[in-house]
Amino acid sequence: MRRLDLPTPCYIIDEAKLRSNLELLHDIEQETGAHILLAQKAFSCFAVYPLIAQYLSGVTASGLFEAKLGAEEFRKENHVFSPAYDPEEFAELCRICDHISFNSFNQLELYRPVWEQAAVSVGIRVNPECSTQGDHAIYDPCAKGSRLGVTKANFHPELLNGVDGLHFHTLCEQNADDLITTFAAFEEKFGEYLKQMKWLNLGGGHHITREDYDVSALKQLILRIRETYGVEVYLEPGEAIALNAGWLDTTVMDIVENDIKILILDASAACHMPDVLEMPYRPPLTDAGEWGEKAYPYRLSARTCLAGDIIGDYSFDREIKIGDRLIFCDMAIYSMVKNNTFNGMPLPAIALQRPDGSCEMIRQFDYQDFKRRLS
Ligand SMILES: *Cc1c(COP(=O)(O)O)cnc(C)c1O
Repeated sequence: MRRLDLPTPCYIIDEAKLRSNLELLHDIEQETGAHILLAQKAFSCFAVYPLIAQYLSGVTASGLFEAKLGAEEFRKENHVFSPAYDPEEFAELCRICDHISFNSFNQLELYRPVWEQAAVSVGIRVNPECSTQGDHAIYDPCAKGSRLGVTKANFHPELLNGVDGLHFHTLCEQNADDLITTFAAFEEKFGEYLKQMKWLNLGGGHHITREDYDVSALKQLILRIRETYGVEVYLEPGEAIALNAGWLDTTVMDIVENDIKILILDASAACHMPDVLEMPYRPPLTDAGEWGEKAYPYRLSARTCLAGDIIGDYSFDREIKIGDRLIFCDMAIYSMVKNNTFNGMPLPAIALQRPDGSCEMIRQFDYQDFKRRLS
């Protein structure tokens, strides 16, 4: 199928870019012996799990449903971390996961009788209390009062019996220098316990496939950790796996004027790219510039009733017409996993673009998908 024959709105996964991201990650695994896991919360398009599984060691989940998806569709290492487990879900996680991380010693002890009898490797998430991100407090697990990870003051070395691993996750879209800073803080607080562990999980937020990422600094750190402490090292990036590996194709449905020209698209920030409003950020758009940069400026918005459903202000070299297609970039991550049907908006279809440019429809959604969630 040709790209232009796909319906809109449609998320399109870029197989060529996905593969090139995966090749870089696979190379890190090969050179350092680290295990890299897909954090499914960023990208759960399981149609391409068999492809990803050719390159990576496994997946990680934020709870039972993602863990089931990983067990069914990825079929390699299956890790899970959640701030709290309920008893039924925990029993099932013990059957389908090989690694389970706890967020507190309360939870560790509550389920000790269960996990001690199960074939799982258990870890505890710690909080190195080292914030390295500037302005994204919502994504900072080391912010004051954070519930994520045990702090040094609340750490109970006497309860580590049977615990195989330590886990920390503090980064978001960051480079290796911030990981090195964080590891130093972790090492100072928890390094003495690492020697008795089998593994260390460095969490996600490593923007490894971004152009300026310092891959060799990451490799050196992993090798140093493995040599110094004799532990297996895990990384569980989400973003980095499908970074820039997808688009959201949309169609201009109408153009209205109110001092400025406003495009009404068949896609919505609130429904189909919620991070645009939550982060917030302005998604990259093909063939467009900043407001005022090119001759034809437009505000891009949606056909929902939410006044603030504004994707961003852009400019173009040509006049935009009703029926034109506009293509948002970097739309594979934190998009499909977060979308919703607010205002009764249809969910975008999901397609795959092959390296030769041909496209294949993976899934389309209809009225029943909307209705089934509502009662
Ligand atoms: C969100 C998260 C990840 C993945 O983060 P990215 O920023 O997408 O790389 C990994 N591990 C944990 C525990 C997370 O909460």
